[in-house]
This record gives sequence, C-alpha cells and structure tokens, in this order.
Amino acid sequence: MLWLRSVIYYLFITLVALFTGAIAGTEWGLAVALTAIALSLLFHLVNLGRLHYWLQHPHVDTVPGSFLLWQDVFDRLYDQVRHQKKAKERLSATLDRFMSAGEALPDGVIILDEFDRIEWCNPAASQHLGLSALADVGQQVTNLVRHPPLRDYLKHQDFSHPLLLRVTRPQEQVLSVQLVPFDSTRKLLLSRDITSLDRVQTVHRDFVANVSHELRTPLTVVGGFIETLQDMPDIDSSTRNQHLQLMYDQTQRMQRLVEDLLTLSRLESGQQLREEEVDVPQLLQLLQTEAEGLSQGRHTILIGAIAPARLIGNHDELHSAFGNLVSNAIRYTPAGGTITLGWEVRSGQGHFYVRDTGIGLAPEHIPRLTERFYRVDRGRSRNTGGTGLGLAIVKHILQRHQAQMVIQSKLGEGSEFAVRFPLQRTLN
Ligand code: ADP
Repeated sequence: MLWLRSVIYYLFITLVALFTGAIAGTEWGLAVALTAIALSLLFHLVNLGRLHYWLQHPHVDTVPGSFLLWQDVFDRLYDQVRHQKKAKERLSATLDRFMSAGEALPDGVIILDEFDRIEWCNPAASQHLGLSALADVGQQVTNLVRHPPLRDYLKHQDFSHPLLLRVTRPQEQVLSVQLVPFDSTRKLLLSRDITSLDRVQTVHRDFVANVSHELRTPLTVVGGFIETLQDMPDIDSSTRNQHLQLMYDQTQRMQRLVEDLLTLSRLESGQQLREEEVDVPQLLQLLQTEAEGLSQGRHTILIGAIAPARLIGNHDELHSAFGNLVSNAIRYTPAGGTITLGWEVRSGQGHFYVRDTGIGLAPEHIPRLTERFYRVDRGRSRNTGGTGLGLAIVKHILQRHQAQMVIQSKLGEGSEFAVRFPLQRTLN
C-alpha cells in the first residue's frame, strides 16, 4: 500500500534525523530534518504543478506518473479517466445507433424545441415535407412548411388526431401527420406515407359504389314490374308472361353478378391453390363444345393449335379463366366471325390463346380491361350478359398460376388474349 510506504518513508527520515542529532549534534540533526522536509515539499509542489498542467489538457494517455503517494493519486486518476472515456464511447456509439435507426425509419420524424424550431429531422421527413436536414435545422417549422393545412394544424394546437395531407411535390403522396409532445417542452412531428392505403380505400369505395349501382338497375326494373302487376290484376296473360320473363332476366343478371362477386372474393381470400395435372388438350375440346353452345351457330369456332402438353394447376380455375376469354370472344364478335382457340408450347412454356375477328379494342382501353367493372361499352356488355368482372377474375386466376396475359387488339379487326405459363408449370 502506497500510503503505508509514505508513512515508512517519513518515519525513516525522522529516525535518520534523530540518529544524526544523537551522533553529530542537534544542529546536524535539525539540518537533516529540514532538508528532508524541503525536498518533500518540492516533490509535492512539482507533482501539484504536473496535476494542474494535466487538468488544463486532460487526456487519458497523458496522465503523469510519479511515486509514493502521488503514484496512487495519478493511478486512480488514470483509472477514472479511462473509465469515463469508455463510458463516453459507449454512450456515443448508442447515440449513433439511435441516430442511424432514426434515419433509416420509413416514417418521417422531426424533433422540435419549445419554440417549434427544428432540432433534428430524418431523411423521410425531409422528403415528405420538402425540408433540408442540414440547412433547416434551427428554423421555425411553421415558416418552412409550404402546406397551409399543416401550418393551420400546427397553429391550432389540437393534436389529438393526425392530419391527412395531400402533397404533390416532389411526388404525389398522401401523408398522415401528427404532433406528439414529449419531454415537457419538446415535440415530435411524425409523418407517414399512406398513399397505398388511401388508394386501397378509394378502390374499396369505388367497388361498393359500382356493386350498388349494378344491383340498383335490375332491382328497380323488378320492383317496377311487381308494382304494375299489383296495380293491374286483370292484365292479359301474354303481357303478364312478358313481364315475368323480363323480371326473370333481371334476377338472372343479379345472380350472375353475385356469383362473380363470390368467385372474386374467394380468389382474393388467398386460399392455397389446389394443384393437379390439367389435361389442356382435353380442356380445349371442352371449351370448343361450350363455345359452340354459346354461339348457337353464329360463329365459326376453330382450334388453331393443340400441343400434347399438360399444365400443373387447378382444373376448375383454369376452366373458368379460359371459359371467360372464350365467352368474351363470342360476345364481342358479331355473327359470321371466327373464334380460334389454341394451345402451344414455345421454349418449353405453355401458351393458351383465344383469337377473334370481333369489334376489337382501342389501345387506351387495353391496360384497364382487368379492372373490376371496367367496360368499353357498358350497354353492349350488359346486353350480352356481362358483369364487368370477367377479366378481373381471369387476372386473379392467372396470378395464382404465375401466368401472364398479353392482349393484342385492333379496333374493328379483332383481338387476341394470350396467356403464357411459366416453365415449371408446363409438362411437355
Ligand atoms: P364484361 O362482363 O363487361 O364482358 P369483362 O371483364 O369480361 O367484362 O371485360 C371487360 C371489358 O373488356 C368488356 O366490357 C369489353 O369492353 C372488353 N372486352 C373483353 N373481351 C373483349 C374482346 N374479345 N373483344 C373486345 N372487347 C373485349
């Protein structure tokens, strides 16, 4: 122990002084004692000076070394400084990690001080609100945001609900912005991109509106006829039968719509595909027979190609998808036209196609055909028993089989709806 060594040292000096005093006289003893005290004082002064100097430029690598009591002091100082340095390094590493996590967040985060000045903001927030992460720090956020609803929201001081903000620059986005107070004076301004959620909600709203509209017309017709039949009990039987037939047609229309809606909802529910080996050549023959039944002799139905390949997929779903394409070809091809079905294998991939010589499509309609209820000619679709959901159903079924549909068409000349299946689903 260093303090003990120091005590022994001073005891030794005292003994030497006493011994010298006893041998050489009191003056010599005093002289030895004074010299020892002076040297010891000098030693303490020098070390104090070194400590003072070090405290002005404290660094773990420059802690002075010494001996006796001062060695102990400097050793403890070194330990403390090293410990502090390590704690500081750990703290700054944690801070760095938090900063990186904050910067990587997909949501925007802005830290505001008590005067709504920006203390920090992450790249997502800069992108959402058009701020600069470096240049705008220290600026008042209300002076920087260019969106009046956000300025009003911040000034209004009611932050119980998020604000829905539609921005157009740098890109069209729908943001949900909310202010969250923390730390008694500071606030977090959070922004989240909810563009896709908003789109889903719009699609959902449009869908409900479309379904209601599709059902309202046949319901009005049926309701009208029922009223007529109630008001005119003596109506002649041929008119009554005519009315009943029209009512039946409308209920059939509603039934088709409900069936297509149920099919669509089943496909969208994400149930796993029940896979089997599908004999496509046999399916093609079945489709030809069904097409002849639908056409009732008004069209020529041909099979253009029939490769002996099979498919791994679900027979009923593929039958429904191909059947939809064939029925469309018949419905949109005037009498006298030709419908050609084909099944080919190109580079190992199965290709199914339906060609018709019908009314064709203008190019601007093609990308939207698989949208639910999208029709080029609403009247024609209805008159031929269409629900506007056929190609949406086809799209879902093909997606479940990882297949792609390519539509080629010329207005007034006809169309081709071709489906390409992936290699792993085609059995040659
Ligand atoms: P619909 O029940 O109205 O036929 P679909 O989803 O099957 O609904 O088709 C959407 C629209 O695509 C149709 O309304 C029609 O305008 C167009 N269409 C589909 N197939 C053909 C085709 N073979 N020739 C011309 N237009 C077609």
